[in-house]
Amino acid sequence: MRSRAPDAVSAWMRFTDFIAAATDLGMPTGFLQEIGADYTIVMGDKDAILPRIDMLILRRDTLGAVDELSPDLPFGERSAIYTLYHEATHAWLDLHADASPVAGVIADGEAHYTDAPLTDGRATSDAHRLFQEAAGDYVGSRMAHWWAALADLAVAAATGTLTEARRAAIASAYEAAQSETVFGYSPEGGLLGIGAAQVETERPAPDELRAFLDCVLLEGKVPSGFAAVPAFARFSAGSGR
Ligand SMILES: [Zn+2]
Repeated sequence: MRSRAPDAVSAWMRFTDFIAAATDLGMPTGFLQEIGADYTIVMGDKDAILPRIDMLILRRDTLGAVDELSPDLPFGERSAIYTLYHEATHAWLDLHADASPVAGVIADGEAHYTDAPLTDGRATSDAHRLFQEAAGDYVGSRMAHWWAALADLAVAAATGTLTEARRAAIASAYEAAQSETVFGYSPEGGLLGIGAAQVETERPAPDELRAFLDCVLLEGKVPSGFAAVPAFARFSAGSGR
């Protein structure tokens, strides 16, 4: 094991602890484990990756929100889970960018997003970045919706209010959220990257990309259908704890 600065050890250990807790809850973590093994993880003032030096930077608040993953006592995990999975997707694509099949996924994705329309009426100037942000946004959003449903189920079960109607409402909110098809932005305007605005695309993500991310990164654990989510099965109506 290479030597790490104290802050890096702390960030890496907290990331590793998060992976263990997330695995226990039924979340897909195989690609996070790859990042933990191959990337240096440090705390910083923004959530980002530095692909040239294989470094994942996470804010103290991001790691702090997932220090104790408790779906029945949620406090800010949802946005932190979005961020962790979003940034880890960038890192994972970077780790595998030069080999099959990821090289092909990236090439197809960049072709798909070339000249893609943005919400400001223009076309993107950066298909490479738009592809990356679509992939990160897709994986982060899928996990955030998954967490929201799990937390709603766990809170209802803990308070004895998980009726059939409540469970059906949680299911339909989950399925509506997971039916979203448009993801990602590209930075537009500004000078040398300074002052650029994040402008979202209007082009739906390609089915092939979503299927790949669903299968390889999300491990089939975050399907669009509520009844098909393995981790939700233990919450039947009327279940207490
Ligand atoms: Zn991103």
